Amino acid sequence: MQSIESNENLLNVLADATETVFLENEKNFENYLLLLLFSTLDLRELLDRYFLTIRRAFNVSGIVYNNSAPNVEINLGNKAGDYRVYNLNRTGSLLGTIRFSTNANKITTTQEKNFRRLANIVALPLQNALVHLNVLNQANTDPLTKTMSRNRFDEDSCREIESAIRFKHSLSVILLDIDNFKRINDQQGHDQGDQVLKAFGHILNKTTRDTDLVFRIGGDEFVILLPKTDLLGAFVQAERFRSTLEREVQEKLILTHPVTTSMGVAMYNIGDSKTELLKRADNALYQAKEHGRNMVMIAD
Ligand code: GH3
Ligand code: MG
Repeated sequence: MQSIESNENLLNVLADATETVFLENEKNFENYLLLLLFSTLDLRELLDRYFLTIRRAFNVSGIVYNNSAPNVEINLGNKAGDYRVYNLNRTGSLLGTIRFSTNANKITTTQEKNFRRLANIVALPLQNALVHLNVLNQANTDPLTKTMSRNRFDEDSCREIESAIRFKHSLSVILLDIDNFKRINDQQGHDQGDQVLKAFGHILNKTTRDTDLVFRIGGDEFVILLPKTDLLGAFVQAERFRSTLEREVQEKLILTHPVTTSMGVAMYNIGDSKTELLKRADNALYQAKEHGRNMVMIAD
């Protein structure tokens, strides 16, 4: 949202230019729009530019871009009146759909023709942005568990702490470590150990809320960031994960022993560094291990 506002002035100038270029020469317009879109690989930025430059010349009140893999939905403007949805195709592959909304009650045939053309224009630069997004997603995702990677945790935890300070909302973390995981590897083999980790990641991704962020930060160690969640809320969530994991891993895999998890929960205190926050969660996790495992402990 911030990027739109900060770019709004510049893009308003571009919107004026779009109108002029479009009215003067349609071919120039296409080249002009492509140039603008090819100069960014960021999907969100690309769609911001696209929407803000076409909206006036083509009377577009809003666009919605949807894709299932990677799973993205980007909504810009509003969805007031009549609309059309187009598939975006490039060299035989579907790159998602785009919806053009207008303030009009009924879209004209000329508008329809323009929308189809606009959908064709955005497809190629969009394909590049999607390739870029896939590369970023791969670097940010742990391949075995499909949770986010350690590098991503370092970035996201700093961002969430800054946001908690700025907007004065609470932030909690849950640190999880599988109990006696070495024994699973030793008794049932490394492959079965991998299956347990994979099931763990899947269950955590499925059980957490959309706003919670799940990372694998070590061999059998995971961390969950819970924005806008206080210590009690995080404790309740952690208890829920603990029992869900125990039940569902057993249901998913045939194991000789149940797999259990110990967890440490901590809430961010103003003035804490990221390291201090994690240290407190780690101490609580240590207490959980000391007190017999398969439990959640809260940090001081
Ligand atoms: P504790 O209850 O104290 O946590 O005991 P633990 O046996 O789980 O001990 P610890 O957490 O220190 O052990 C983690 C083990 O995880 C050690 C390592 O062999 C194993 N491990 C680390 N990464 C992987 C992996 O990708 N796949 C498999 N199968 N095992 C891994
Ligand atoms: Mg362990």
